[in-house]
Amino acid sequence: MPSPFFLVFRVARKIPSRVSSSSPFSSRSFSLGDAPAGRFSSLLQEFSKDVVGVKSVHAQIVVNDIGSEQSLATVLVGAYRDLGCLEYARKVFDQIPHPEAPICTAVLVGYLRRELYNEALAFFELMRSRDLETDDRACNFALKACSMVSDYERGMDIINIAVNKGIQRNQFLASSMVNFLMNFGKLKEARMIFDGLRVRDVVCWNSIIGGYVQARQFNDAFFLFFEMCKYGVRPTPLTMASMIQACEGVRNLDLGKSVHGFVLCLEMGDDVLVLTSLVNMYAKLGDVNLVSWNAMISGYVQNGFVHEAFELVSQLLKNHCRLDSGTVVSLLHDCALTANFESGKMLHGFIYRAGFELDVILGTALVDLYSKCGALSWAFSVFSRTPNRNVITWTAMLVGLAQNGHAEEALWLFSDMQQEGVAANSITLVSLVHSCAHLGSLKKGKIIHAYLLCNGYALSVLNMTALIDMYAKCGKVEHADRVIHYSPVSEKDVVLWNSIIGSYGMHGFGDRALAAFHQMKEEGVSPNESTFVSLLTACNHSGMVEEGVALFHSMQNDHKIRQSEKLYACFVDLLSRAGRLKEAEALVEEMPFNSSSASLEALLNGCRTHKNVALGVKTADKLLCLGVANPGVYVVLSNIYAVARQWDKVDHVRQLMRQCGLKKTPGYSLIEIGNQLHTFLAADSSHPQQPEIDEIVDNLKTEVEASGYVPDTSCILRDVDESVKVKLLWGHSERLAIAFGLLSTPAGSLIRIIKNLRVCNDCHNVTKYISKIVQREIVVRDANRFHHFKNGKCSCNDYW
Ligand SMILES: [Zn+2]
Ligand SMILES: [Zn+2]
Repeated sequence: MPSPFFLVFRVARKIPSRVSSSSPFSSRSFSLGDAPAGRFSSLLQEFSKDVVGVKSVHAQIVVNDIGSEQSLATVLVGAYRDLGCLEYARKVFDQIPHPEAPICTAVLVGYLRRELYNEALAFFELMRSRDLETDDRACNFALKACSMVSDYERGMDIINIAVNKGIQRNQFLASSMVNFLMNFGKLKEARMIFDGLRVRDVVCWNSIIGGYVQARQFNDAFFLFFEMCKYGVRPTPLTMASMIQACEGVRNLDLGKSVHGFVLCLEMGDDVLVLTSLVNMYAKLGDVNLVSWNAMISGYVQNGFVHEAFELVSQLLKNHCRLDSGTVVSLLHDCALTANFESGKMLHGFIYRAGFELDVILGTALVDLYSKCGALSWAFSVFSRTPNRNVITWTAMLVGLAQNGHAEEALWLFSDMQQEGVAANSITLVSLVHSCAHLGSLKKGKIIHAYLLCNGYALSVLNMTALIDMYAKCGKVEHADRVIHYSPVSEKDVVLWNSIIGSYGMHGFGDRALAAFHQMKEEGVSPNESTFVSLLTACNHSGMVEEGVALFHSMQNDHKIRQSEKLYACFVDLLSRAGRLKEAEALVEEMPFNSSSASLEALLNGCRTHKNVALGVKTADKLLCLGVANPGVYVVLSNIYAVARQWDKVDHVRQLMRQCGLKKTPGYSLIEIGNQLHTFLAADSSHPQQPEIDEIVDNLKTEVEASGYVPDTSCILRDVDESVKVKLLWGHSERLAIAFGLLSTPAGSLIRIIKNLRVCNDCHNVTKYISKIVQREIVVRDANRFHHFKNGKCSCNDYW
């Protein structure tokens, strides 16, 4: 009587050979040959990852009445078992009248894999009660199950069966027997089987050696370990862990160190099991060799086992091992290398609980770690509590501030450092030069330059590059020139030259940028991609279109520079500004990349400047499709659509801006007066001298309007009255900074402003008027370039 299970498959009709199936599984068609069993076997292998497939083949097997063929049934059992359908596998087995050994083993293995050890043993009993063949493999698996459930009696039964059958010398079975007997402390019996084996695998060696170590018969363990090596069997981490334990057991530190050396030869120094055994051993034997501790702890951290490293450290402490801060510092360095804030915090907490005193080395490592993770408040809190801070401590804190955009705070910290009488090193100073460049702080920059000179650091390429950049960004091209002049020819590399070319470009000295480029080539330095970006930008800022076009072609033909998206965007910008919109458009079309938003933005700006509404709208549509990330572009987009009178799109752009939550980065302007930097935000009223500043702004407004200035409110996107828009314009940060500059500097002197964003059209226009009215030269560095306003004109010729 078939089991209900097979009724499921009754729907499948018996099919003739070579005819495709019309069973419920008709989506699969089987072509059956003359030897269906063999064909079904290969079909089962084909469907081995698919339960439905296996079931459908099973159905065909049943209807073809070949279900009792042992080899096929064995494959079927294996297929179900490997898919995790153990109950189906068992049903197939149950259908076979006299199952042979392979099919029995297949089921037994299934139980073991699912860790159903008691079921496996019950199955083995069933095999015996039905007088089925219990071969070496079946005994092996059954014995393993006995080991897992610690059933000594049953295990001994199985061993007796094996011995009676004379199969106990099978390598795998013997290995299991040794392991089983060792687990129950039957060393003599295990050793007898072991000694009788001709082939012993590493598992077998490991169980006998491990067994002797557990039984504290260390000499036997050592003897067998040397035997193992003599036979050329390569130890595994488990073997070595046992041996380390044995060294601990015989309390022989020298032997332990030899084993440690052997572990290193085997390249197992990073293995967690081995490491943990080593730690236990060294701890128990009271060795305080911190060099090896550090190596082991670093081994953990560098392999990402931070938790294990901590555990190791705690274990050391638990074992009353002396642990100096060097170990902990190495851990902190490892965390800093990967900027792992969470691990760093954990480690810090650990150091605190373990009662380490915060000394300068530990403090510095913590400051460095937190700085690298950008966790500045944490860094500063440790910094302020660290005793005897040295130059490395200060530098770690200072570089942390500078690199995380806190240039002003970095400069403040430097004055504190000087007050404490700590001499700065080259790293401190170069990071300060960058901070001065960022802030446009010429006075502080000059002081740092003097420091570099006094300490003999001024002539390294890295520092010179930073100085050139700093002077250029502070608006002092002639100072940058002097640095270039003093730099030794042999030392100049491409980065230094790029910074020279870039600084000329920033100030609109296109011809000087080109001259520098030629000199660079004469001195044998090859240009790279950045060189050409700087050159094209320089041509762009100086209106040198033809030179730019020639450079772009020579770059491709003579210098074989990879055509990057950035270079294309620069070139599109150059053509667009010059009004060569057709060429720019063609370039965007034929770019070897998907049109990038940078190129499209450049083209869009050109369309706005040159009032090409049709192309502008086309470009704007493309940009909208790409999804714009730069909030500044929305202003241009809405202007273009407004000019084209496409009000629905104007609304759409504004909606997009609101939806995306895109707010413009708050604009701010900086001005340096005396030794202090003053920062102004838009519509800022926080300055202590606000009433005086407001008065000057009011006066300026009256004067420029009298001179013919008409406000251009197109950059104000808010839906407010025209008069409110004008009021918003007069709150722009650069106007407040200029007013404060007029208030705080002697008549006729130059006013220098740093603006973080691009100067808006109206501020640019109004500054021109102001420069004429107050008869002052006003230099504004915005996000794009330098503007030298003088007598009603700007050096940029309105290209920026
Ligand atoms: Zn403005
Ligand atoms: Zn300008």
